Amino acid sequence: MINGERLIERPLRWGMVGGGRTGQVGYKHRTGAQRDGTYRLLAGAFDLDAERGRDFGTRLGVDAERCYADYRALIAGETGREDGVEVVSIATPNFTHYEITKACLEAGLNVVCEKPLFFTVAECDEIAALAERKGLVVGVTYGFTGHPLVRQMAAMVAKGMLGEIRLVDLRYTHGFNAGDDVGAGEAVRWRTNPKTAGPTFVLGDIGTHLYYLSEVVLPHLKVERLLCDRKAFIPTRAPLEDHATVLMHYDNGARGHLWVSSVDAGNMGSQRYRFVGSKASVEWSDSHPDQLVYEVQGEPNRILHHGMPYLEDESLAVDRMGGLHTEGLGDSWANIYLWIAQAIDATRRGDEAFLKIHRYPDIHAGTEGVRWLENCVRSADAGSAWVDFR
Ligand code: NAD
Repeated sequence: MINGERLIERPLRWGMVGGGRTGQVGYKHRTGAQRDGTYRLLAGAFDLDAERGRDFGTRLGVDAERCYADYRALIAGETGREDGVEVVSIATPNFTHYEITKACLEAGLNVVCEKPLFFTVAECDEIAALAERKGLVVGVTYGFTGHPLVRQMAAMVAKGMLGEIRLVDLRYTHGFNAGDDVGAGEAVRWRTNPKTAGPTFVLGDIGTHLYYLSEVVLPHLKVERLLCDRKAFIPTRAPLEDHATVLMHYDNGARGHLWVSSVDAGNMGSQRYRFVGSKASVEWSDSHPDQLVYEVQGEPNRILHHGMPYLEDESLAVDRMGGLHTEGLGDSWANIYLWIAQAIDATRRGDEAFLKIHRYPDIHAGTEGVRWLENCVRSADAGSAWVDFR
Protein backbone atom coordinates (compact mmCIF):
# COMPACT_ATOMS: atom_id res chain seq x y z
CA MET A 1 0.00 0.00 0.00
CA ILE A 2 1.19 3.50 -0.76
CA ASN A 3 0.83 5.84 2.22
CA GLY A 4 2.73 8.98 1.21
CA GLU A 5 6.06 8.01 2.77
CA ARG A 6 8.79 9.23 0.48
CA LEU A 7 10.20 6.35 -1.54
CA ILE A 8 13.10 8.23 -3.10
CA GLU A 9 16.12 9.96 -1.60
CA ARG A 10 14.77 13.51 -1.85
CA PRO A 11 11.98 15.40 -3.63
CA LEU A 12 12.64 16.18 -7.28
CA ARG A 13 12.84 19.82 -8.36
CA TRP A 14 10.10 20.03 -10.92
CA GLY A 15 8.96 22.39 -13.68
CA MET A 16 6.07 22.41 -16.12
CA VAL A 17 5.69 23.52 -19.72
CA GLY A 18 2.03 24.05 -20.59
CA GLY A 19 -0.81 22.91 -18.37
CA GLY A 20 -1.78 26.54 -17.74
CA ARG A 21 -5.00 28.00 -16.41
CA THR A 22 -7.05 27.06 -19.45
CA GLY A 23 -5.31 23.74 -20.14
CA GLN A 24 -7.33 20.56 -19.74
CA VAL A 25 -4.69 18.23 -18.39
CA GLY A 26 -2.43 20.43 -16.27
CA TYR A 27 -4.17 19.80 -12.97
CA LYS A 28 -3.92 16.04 -13.41
CA HIS A 29 -0.15 16.46 -13.62
CA ARG A 30 0.00 18.64 -10.52
CA THR A 31 -2.31 16.49 -8.45
CA GLY A 32 -0.36 13.39 -9.48
CA ALA A 33 3.12 14.79 -9.03
CA GLN A 34 2.54 16.58 -5.74
CA ARG A 35 0.55 13.88 -3.99
CA ASP A 36 3.43 12.28 -2.08
CA GLY A 37 5.79 15.22 -1.82
CA THR A 38 7.94 13.49 -4.43
CA TYR A 39 8.09 16.53 -6.70
CA ARG A 40 8.27 20.23 -5.78
CA LEU A 41 6.90 22.61 -8.40
CA LEU A 42 9.53 25.37 -8.65
CA ALA A 43 9.26 26.71 -12.20
CA GLY A 44 7.08 26.79 -15.25
CA ALA A 45 6.33 28.13 -18.71
CA PHE A 46 2.69 27.34 -18.16
CA ASP A 47 0.98 29.16 -20.97
CA LEU A 48 1.35 30.46 -24.49
CA ASP A 49 0.16 33.75 -23.02
CA ALA A 50 3.19 34.64 -20.91
CA GLU A 51 1.38 37.13 -18.63
CA ARG A 52 -1.44 34.73 -17.90
CA GLY A 53 1.13 32.00 -17.32
CA ARG A 54 3.01 34.13 -14.80
CA ASP A 55 -0.15 35.08 -12.94
CA PHE A 56 -1.24 31.45 -12.86
CA GLY A 57 2.17 30.19 -11.77
CA THR A 58 2.43 32.60 -8.87
CA ARG A 59 -1.01 31.47 -7.70
CA LEU A 60 0.34 27.94 -7.70
CA GLY A 61 3.09 29.17 -5.39
CA VAL A 62 5.88 29.45 -7.96
CA ASP A 63 8.21 32.47 -7.62
CA ALA A 64 7.36 35.10 -10.25
CA GLU A 65 10.97 35.10 -11.52
CA ARG A 66 10.68 31.38 -12.21
CA CYS A 67 7.47 31.74 -14.26
CA TYR A 68 8.98 31.98 -17.72
CA ALA A 69 7.64 33.28 -21.03
CA ASP A 70 8.46 30.05 -22.90
CA TYR A 71 10.30 26.76 -22.57
CA ARG A 72 13.57 28.14 -23.93
CA ALA A 73 13.65 30.81 -21.24
CA LEU A 74 12.79 28.15 -18.65
CA ILE A 75 15.70 25.95 -19.71
CA ALA A 76 18.10 28.90 -19.82
CA GLY A 77 16.94 30.25 -16.46
CA GLU A 78 16.83 26.95 -14.62
CA THR A 79 20.05 25.39 -15.89
CA GLY A 80 21.83 28.55 -14.73
CA ARG A 81 20.75 28.01 -11.08
CA GLU A 82 22.14 25.69 -8.45
CA ASP A 83 18.61 24.88 -7.31
CA GLY A 84 17.30 24.62 -10.90
CA VAL A 85 14.66 22.07 -11.84
CA GLU A 86 15.82 18.57 -12.77
CA VAL A 87 12.64 17.23 -14.35
CA VAL A 88 10.15 18.99 -16.63
CA SER A 89 6.60 17.92 -17.50
CA ILE A 90 5.29 18.76 -20.95
CA ALA A 91 1.53 19.30 -21.10
CA THR A 92 1.26 21.16 -24.38
CA PRO A 93 -0.35 20.35 -27.77
CA ASN A 94 1.16 17.35 -29.57
CA PHE A 95 3.27 19.18 -32.16
CA THR A 96 5.44 20.76 -29.48
CA HIS A 97 6.34 17.53 -27.61
CA TYR A 98 9.34 16.56 -29.72
CA GLU A 99 11.12 19.92 -29.76
CA ILE A 100 10.55 20.62 -26.06
CA THR A 101 11.60 17.10 -25.01
CA LYS A 102 14.74 17.32 -27.13
CA ALA A 103 15.69 20.72 -25.73
CA CYS A 104 15.13 19.55 -22.14
CA LEU A 105 17.21 16.40 -22.57
CA GLU A 106 20.01 18.31 -24.26
CA ALA A 107 20.04 20.63 -21.24
CA GLY A 108 20.33 17.63 -18.88
CA LEU A 109 16.71 17.62 -17.68
CA ASN A 110 14.53 14.55 -17.24
CA VAL A 111 11.15 14.70 -18.98
CA VAL A 112 7.59 13.64 -18.31
CA CYS A 113 5.71 14.04 -21.57
CA GLU A 114 2.12 13.77 -22.66
CA LYS A 115 0.86 11.26 -25.18
CA PRO A 116 0.85 10.79 -28.10
CA LEU A 117 4.57 11.17 -27.49
CA PHE A 118 5.71 12.45 -30.92
CA PHE A 119 4.55 12.29 -34.54
CA THR A 120 6.86 9.52 -35.82
CA VAL A 121 8.72 6.45 -34.58
CA ALA A 122 11.89 7.92 -36.08
CA GLU A 123 11.56 10.89 -33.69
CA CYS A 124 10.94 8.52 -30.78
CA ASP A 125 14.05 6.48 -31.62
CA GLU A 126 16.17 9.60 -31.86
CA ILE A 127 14.94 10.86 -28.49
CA ALA A 128 15.35 7.42 -26.86
CA ALA A 129 18.99 7.39 -27.99
CA LEU A 130 19.51 10.93 -26.70
CA ALA A 131 17.99 10.07 -23.29
CA GLU A 132 20.15 6.95 -23.09
CA ARG A 133 23.29 8.91 -23.93
CA LYS A 134 22.48 11.52 -21.32
CA GLY A 135 21.42 9.00 -18.64
CA LEU A 136 18.01 10.68 -18.37
CA VAL A 137 14.45 9.42 -18.10
CA VAL A 138 11.49 10.18 -20.35
CA GLY A 139 8.18 9.14 -18.76
CA VAL A 140 4.83 9.25 -20.54
CA THR A 141 1.59 10.09 -18.76
CA TYR A 142 -0.65 7.20 -19.68
CA GLY A 143 -2.62 8.29 -16.64
CA PHE A 144 -5.17 5.49 -16.43
CA THR A 145 -2.64 2.70 -15.99
CA GLY A 146 -1.85 3.55 -12.38
CA HIS A 147 -5.16 2.12 -11.17
CA PRO A 148 -4.59 -0.82 -8.80
CA LEU A 149 -7.13 -2.94 -10.67
CA VAL A 150 -5.13 -2.58 -13.89
CA ARG A 151 -2.24 -4.22 -12.03
CA GLN A 152 -4.76 -6.81 -10.81
CA MET A 153 -5.76 -7.71 -14.37
CA ALA A 154 -2.10 -8.01 -15.38
CA ALA A 155 -1.39 -10.26 -12.39
CA MET A 156 -4.40 -12.48 -13.12
CA VAL A 157 -3.33 -12.91 -16.75
CA ALA A 158 0.26 -13.66 -15.69
CA LYS A 159 -0.96 -16.33 -13.22
CA GLY A 160 -3.01 -17.98 -15.96
CA MET A 161 -6.32 -17.30 -14.20
CA LEU A 162 -7.97 -16.48 -17.55
CA GLY A 163 -6.33 -19.32 -19.47
CA GLU A 164 -4.96 -18.64 -22.94
CA ILE A 165 -5.95 -15.14 -24.09
CA ARG A 166 -8.34 -15.25 -27.05
CA LEU A 167 -10.16 -11.93 -27.30
CA VAL A 168 -9.16 -8.35 -26.54
CA ASP A 169 -12.02 -5.87 -26.63
CA LEU A 170 -11.10 -2.22 -26.13
CA ARG A 171 -13.24 0.86 -26.34
CA TYR A 172 -12.78 4.55 -25.52
CA THR A 173 -15.61 6.69 -26.83
CA HIS A 174 -17.39 9.90 -25.97
CA GLY A 175 -19.61 12.38 -27.74
CA PHE A 176 -17.89 15.68 -27.03
CA ASN A 177 -17.19 16.28 -30.73
CA ALA A 178 -20.56 15.06 -32.03
CA GLY A 179 -21.36 18.58 -33.27
CA ASP A 180 -19.36 20.60 -35.77
CA ASP A 181 -16.37 22.76 -34.85
CA VAL A 182 -17.85 26.17 -35.60
CA GLY A 183 -16.75 28.35 -32.70
CA ALA A 184 -14.74 25.50 -31.16
CA GLY A 185 -12.13 26.34 -28.55
CA GLU A 186 -8.38 26.06 -28.89
CA ALA A 187 -8.20 22.48 -27.54
CA VAL A 188 -10.49 21.25 -30.34
CA ARG A 189 -8.84 23.38 -33.02
CA TRP A 190 -5.33 22.02 -32.46
CA ARG A 191 -6.62 18.44 -32.10
CA THR A 192 -8.33 18.50 -35.50
CA ASN A 193 -5.44 20.01 -37.47
CA PRO A 194 -2.71 17.59 -38.68
CA LYS A 195 -0.06 20.28 -38.27
CA THR A 196 -0.69 20.49 -34.53
CA ALA A 197 -2.25 17.11 -33.70
CA GLY A 198 -0.09 14.86 -35.87
CA PRO A 199 -1.30 12.11 -38.19
CA THR A 200 -4.39 11.23 -36.12
CA PHE A 201 -7.11 12.76 -33.96
CA VAL A 202 -8.99 10.24 -31.77
CA LEU A 203 -6.60 7.35 -32.42
CA GLY A 204 -3.78 9.33 -30.81
CA ASP A 205 -5.89 11.35 -28.42
CA ILE A 206 -7.66 8.45 -26.73
CA GLY A 207 -6.76 5.25 -28.63
CA THR A 208 -3.16 5.29 -27.34
CA HIS A 209 -4.53 4.96 -23.79
CA LEU A 210 -6.32 1.76 -24.79
CA TYR A 211 -3.32 0.36 -26.55
CA TYR A 212 -0.88 1.02 -23.72
CA LEU A 213 -3.21 -0.37 -21.06
CA SER A 214 -3.61 -3.54 -23.11
CA GLU A 215 0.19 -3.82 -23.29
CA VAL A 216 0.38 -3.54 -19.50
CA VAL A 217 -2.17 -6.33 -19.05
CA LEU A 218 -0.83 -8.51 -21.89
CA PRO A 219 2.93 -7.86 -22.00
CA HIS A 220 3.57 -11.28 -23.57
CA LEU A 221 1.31 -10.69 -26.60
CA LYS A 222 2.35 -8.74 -29.67
CA VAL A 223 0.17 -7.45 -32.49
CA GLU A 224 1.16 -9.13 -35.76
CA ARG A 225 -1.30 -7.55 -38.18
CA LEU A 226 -4.00 -4.92 -38.01
CA LEU A 227 -6.73 -3.30 -40.03
CA CYS A 228 -7.88 0.24 -39.31
CA ASP A 229 -10.96 1.98 -40.64
CA ARG A 230 -11.16 5.68 -39.81
CA LYS A 231 -13.63 8.36 -40.68
CA ALA A 232 -14.31 12.05 -40.09
CA PHE A 233 -18.04 12.32 -39.48
CA ILE A 234 -17.51 16.07 -39.37
CA PRO A 235 -15.88 16.58 -42.79
CA THR A 236 -13.83 19.64 -41.79
CA ARG A 237 -11.76 17.32 -39.59
CA ALA A 238 -10.55 15.23 -42.53
CA PRO A 239 -7.96 13.87 -43.11
CA LEU A 240 -8.01 13.31 -39.37
CA GLU A 241 -10.63 10.97 -37.91
CA ASP A 242 -13.22 11.52 -35.22
CA HIS A 243 -14.06 7.82 -35.22
CA ALA A 244 -12.08 4.63 -35.88
CA THR A 245 -12.28 0.86 -35.62
CA VAL A 246 -9.17 -1.31 -35.45
CA LEU A 247 -9.02 -5.10 -35.76
CA MET A 248 -5.86 -6.79 -34.52
CA HIS A 249 -4.31 -10.25 -34.82
CA TYR A 250 -1.95 -11.19 -32.00
CA ASP A 251 1.00 -13.54 -32.25
CA ASN A 252 -0.72 -16.21 -30.10
CA GLY A 253 -3.73 -16.26 -32.42
CA ALA A 254 -5.85 -13.94 -30.24
CA ARG A 255 -8.15 -11.44 -31.92
CA GLY A 256 -8.46 -7.81 -30.90
CA HIS A 257 -11.18 -5.28 -31.54
CA LEU A 258 -10.83 -1.62 -30.64
CA TRP A 259 -13.00 1.39 -31.29
CA VAL A 260 -12.42 5.00 -30.50
CA SER A 261 -14.79 7.82 -31.15
CA SER A 262 -15.49 11.38 -30.14
CA VAL A 263 -18.86 11.40 -31.92
CA ASP A 264 -20.49 8.71 -29.73
CA ALA A 265 -23.26 11.17 -28.86
CA GLY A 266 -24.45 11.03 -25.29
CA ASN A 267 -22.01 8.36 -24.13
CA MET A 268 -20.42 9.14 -20.79
CA GLY A 269 -19.17 5.58 -20.25
CA SER A 270 -15.75 6.48 -21.66
CA GLN A 271 -13.42 3.46 -21.52
CA ARG A 272 -14.06 -0.28 -21.40
CA TYR A 273 -11.50 -3.07 -21.41
CA ARG A 274 -12.43 -6.74 -21.72
CA PHE A 275 -9.85 -9.53 -21.83
CA VAL A 276 -11.23 -12.96 -22.62
CA GLY A 277 -9.29 -16.17 -22.04
CA SER A 278 -10.07 -19.84 -22.55
CA LYS A 279 -11.28 -20.16 -18.91
CA ALA A 280 -12.44 -16.73 -17.79
CA SER A 281 -12.70 -13.03 -18.57
CA VAL A 282 -12.04 -9.75 -16.81
CA GLU A 283 -13.70 -6.46 -17.60
CA TRP A 284 -12.78 -3.03 -16.27
CA SER A 285 -13.94 0.51 -16.95
CA ASP A 286 -12.51 3.83 -15.82
CA SER A 287 -16.08 4.87 -14.95
CA HIS A 288 -15.97 2.35 -12.08
CA PRO A 289 -12.24 2.01 -11.51
CA ASP A 290 -12.79 0.49 -8.05
CA GLN A 291 -14.42 -2.62 -9.48
CA LEU A 292 -13.27 -5.44 -11.69
CA VAL A 293 -15.72 -7.90 -13.18
CA TYR A 294 -14.30 -11.43 -13.11
CA GLU A 295 -16.29 -14.04 -15.00
CA VAL A 296 -15.33 -17.70 -14.86
CA GLN A 297 -17.08 -19.87 -17.39
CA GLY A 298 -19.78 -21.93 -15.63
CA GLU A 299 -19.60 -20.00 -12.35
CA PRO A 300 -21.50 -16.99 -11.01
CA ASN A 301 -19.93 -13.68 -12.00
CA ARG A 302 -17.82 -11.90 -9.38
CA ILE A 303 -17.07 -8.26 -8.77
CA LEU A 304 -13.64 -7.71 -7.23
CA HIS A 305 -13.17 -4.50 -5.24
CA HIS A 306 -9.90 -2.58 -5.02
CA GLY A 307 -7.92 -2.75 -1.80
CA MET A 308 -9.37 -6.09 -0.66
CA PRO A 309 -7.07 -8.79 0.71
CA TYR A 310 -8.24 -11.33 -1.86
CA LEU A 311 -6.50 -9.34 -4.64
CA GLU A 312 -3.03 -10.10 -5.93
CA ASP A 313 -0.02 -8.55 -4.17
CA GLU A 314 0.83 -6.51 -7.29
CA SER A 315 -2.49 -4.69 -7.00
CA LEU A 316 -2.44 -4.22 -3.23
CA ALA A 317 1.09 -2.81 -3.41
CA VAL A 318 -0.11 0.21 -5.41
CA ASP A 319 -3.41 0.80 -3.60
CA ARG A 320 -3.68 4.08 -1.72
CA MET A 321 -7.09 4.41 -0.11
CA GLY A 322 -7.83 0.86 1.01
CA GLY A 323 -10.98 -1.17 0.40
CA LEU A 324 -14.36 0.50 0.88
CA HIS A 325 -13.06 3.98 0.04
CA THR A 326 -13.03 5.52 -3.41
CA GLU A 327 -9.80 5.21 -5.36
CA GLY A 328 -9.84 7.23 -8.55
CA LEU A 329 -8.05 8.97 -11.39
CA GLY A 330 -6.01 11.29 -9.15
CA ASP A 331 -4.64 8.25 -7.32
CA SER A 332 -3.81 6.59 -10.62
CA TRP A 333 -1.87 9.65 -11.79
CA ALA A 334 -0.08 9.81 -8.43
CA ASN A 335 1.14 6.26 -9.01
CA ILE A 336 2.35 7.08 -12.53
CA TYR A 337 4.27 10.11 -11.27
CA LEU A 338 5.70 8.12 -8.36
CA TRP A 339 6.91 5.34 -10.66
CA ILE A 340 8.57 7.88 -12.94
CA ALA A 341 10.23 9.54 -9.91
CA GLN A 342 11.53 6.16 -8.78
CA ALA A 343 12.95 5.57 -12.26
CA ILE A 344 14.72 8.96 -12.21
CA ASP A 345 16.07 8.29 -8.73
CA ALA A 346 17.27 4.79 -9.61
CA THR A 347 18.83 5.96 -12.88
CA ARG A 348 20.73 8.61 -11.00
CA ARG A 349 21.97 6.06 -8.48
CA GLY A 350 22.83 3.59 -11.23
CA ASP A 351 20.55 0.99 -9.60
CA GLU A 352 20.31 -1.41 -12.54
CA ALA A 353 18.73 -4.17 -10.47
CA PHE A 354 15.79 -1.93 -9.54
CA LEU A 355 15.39 -0.58 -13.07
CA LYS A 356 15.28 -4.09 -14.50
CA ILE A 357 12.10 -4.97 -12.61
CA HIS A 358 10.56 -1.49 -12.30
CA ARG A 359 7.53 -0.95 -14.53
CA TYR A 360 6.41 2.52 -15.58
CA PRO A 361 5.34 4.16 -18.87
CA ASP A 362 8.77 4.94 -20.28
CA ILE A 363 10.05 6.19 -23.64
CA HIS A 364 9.56 2.71 -25.11
CA ALA A 365 5.90 2.72 -24.07
CA GLY A 366 5.53 6.10 -25.76
CA THR A 367 7.30 4.78 -28.85
CA GLU A 368 5.05 1.72 -29.09
CA GLY A 369 2.01 4.01 -29.00
CA VAL A 370 3.39 6.02 -31.91
CA ARG A 371 4.30 2.81 -33.76
CA TRP A 372 0.71 1.57 -33.35
CA LEU A 373 -0.57 4.90 -34.73
CA GLU A 374 1.75 4.68 -37.74
CA ASN A 375 0.43 1.20 -38.51
CA CYS A 376 -3.19 2.33 -38.10
CA VAL A 377 -2.67 5.21 -40.51
CA ARG A 378 -0.85 2.98 -43.03
CA SER A 379 -3.77 0.55 -42.98
CA ALA A 380 -6.48 3.22 -43.18
CA ASP A 381 -4.70 5.04 -46.00
CA ALA A 382 -4.46 1.79 -47.96
CA GLY A 383 -8.27 1.55 -47.95
CA SER A 384 -8.51 -0.23 -44.58
CA ALA A 385 -6.24 -3.04 -45.69
CA TRP A 386 -4.66 -5.60 -43.38
CA VAL A 387 -1.05 -4.60 -42.79
CA ASP A 388 1.79 -6.44 -41.08
CA PHE A 389 2.71 -4.63 -37.89
CA ARG A 390 6.18 -3.12 -38.18
P1 NAD B 1 -5.11 22.42 -24.01
O1 NAD B 1 -5.18 23.07 -25.34
O2 NAD B 1 -6.34 22.35 -23.16
O3 NAD B 1 -3.99 23.14 -23.10
C1 NAD B 1 -2.68 23.34 -23.57
C2 NAD B 1 -1.95 24.20 -22.57
O4 NAD B 1 -0.60 24.36 -22.99
C3 NAD B 1 -2.51 25.61 -22.42
O5 NAD B 1 -2.33 26.02 -21.09
C4 NAD B 1 -1.62 26.43 -23.38
O6 NAD B 1 -1.56 27.80 -23.06
C5 NAD B 1 -0.30 25.76 -23.16
N1 NAD B 1 0.65 25.84 -24.27
C6 NAD B 1 0.41 25.59 -25.58
N2 NAD B 1 1.57 25.70 -26.29
C7 NAD B 1 2.53 26.01 -25.40
C8 NAD B 1 3.91 26.25 -25.49
N3 NAD B 1 4.57 26.17 -26.66
N4 NAD B 1 4.60 26.55 -24.35
C9 NAD B 1 3.96 26.61 -23.16
N5 NAD B 1 2.66 26.40 -23.02
C10 NAD B 1 1.94 26.10 -24.12
O7 NAD B 1 -4.52 20.97 -24.24
P2 NAD B 1 -4.71 19.69 -23.29
O8 NAD B 1 -6.02 19.05 -23.55
O9 NAD B 1 -4.35 20.04 -21.89
O10 NAD B 1 -3.63 18.72 -23.94
C11 NAD B 1 -2.24 18.93 -23.78
C12 NAD B 1 -1.54 17.59 -24.04
O11 NAD B 1 -1.99 16.65 -23.07
C13 NAD B 1 -1.85 16.97 -25.40
O12 NAD B 1 -0.71 16.31 -25.88
C14 NAD B 1 -2.93 15.94 -25.10
O13 NAD B 1 -2.92 14.84 -26.00
C15 NAD B 1 -2.54 15.50 -23.71
N6 NAD B 1 -3.65 15.03 -22.85
C16 NAD B 1 -3.44 13.90 -22.13
C17 NAD B 1 -4.40 13.43 -21.28
C18 NAD B 1 -4.10 12.19 -20.47
O14 NAD B 1 -5.02 11.59 -19.90
N7 NAD B 1 -2.85 11.78 -20.37
C19 NAD B 1 -5.62 14.11 -21.13
C20 NAD B 1 -5.81 15.28 -21.89
C21 NAD B 1 -4.80 15.74 -22.73
